[in-house]
Amino acid sequence: MAATGIYGGTFDPVHIGHLRTALELLQALALTEIRFIPASEPPHREPTQAPAAVRMRMLEAALAGQPGFVLDDRELQRQGPSYTVDTLESLRAEQPQRSLALILGMDAFAGLMDWHRWEQLFDHAHLIVMHRPGASLPTEGEIGQLITDRGITDPARLASGTGHILEWAVTSLDVSASAIRRLVAAGEDPRFLVPDAVRDIILESGCYEDAGAALVHGGHA
Ligand code: ATP
Repeated sequence: MAATGIYGGTFDPVHIGHLRTALELLQALALTEIRFIPASEPPHREPTQAPAAVRMRMLEAALAGQPGFVLDDRELQRQGPSYTVDTLESLRAEQPQRSLALILGMDAFAGLMDWHRWEQLFDHAHLIVMHRPGASLPTEGEIGQLITDRGITDPARLASGTGHILEWAVTSLDVSASAIRRLVAAGEDPRFLVPDAVRDIILESGCYEDAGAALVHGGHA
């Protein structure tokens, strides 16, 4: 059986950069499904701006109707920081025979060695490293060595075992959640960077408005 894709992130908010790349991987690599797993308290970065409940609603709206896209809230159910290695362990415990492929953009992959128990990620899953504008694959140092040791080019090898790294070119979309948050805080419209249903939630919840921008643009005073 083909692998299950694991797409982790803060999704603050989910945007077309996540959704389009996920669809391309689902189809090109014949993954059985892609599980989107929003992080509760990201260990490597600033706290999220939208609360978990709003990030979940945006994801639910974004994934609705796309076969093979699954929303998985296990990290929000756990206490404390969301360590990916714990998530992979819990997925493995549920279905030991299932092959897992953790999906990361190149920016995230470049910081892999700062992750909690990062070496053990390879005991539980393969890695798919997606191209992302502005990021390139490190060729030197420990992380470059990882690719030399673990790199594969044939996606069929994701179907069994663990520990391989597949680099994959997806459509380059220079879209990021932080840019969308800034844009909304400045009173601009995020239309076409996020699905319409996600845009509705952003506007109606006011989750990315900051007080200063709201005053300038005649929003809530
Ligand atoms: P932020 O701007 O807040 O850092 P982000 O847009 O990077 O957020 P995350 O939720 O942090 O979104 O990303 C989750 C995963 O999706 C990461 O592995 C990241 O590399 C990947 N990703 C996000 N946007 C893109 C994109 N446009 N192209 C390819 N990969 C992406």
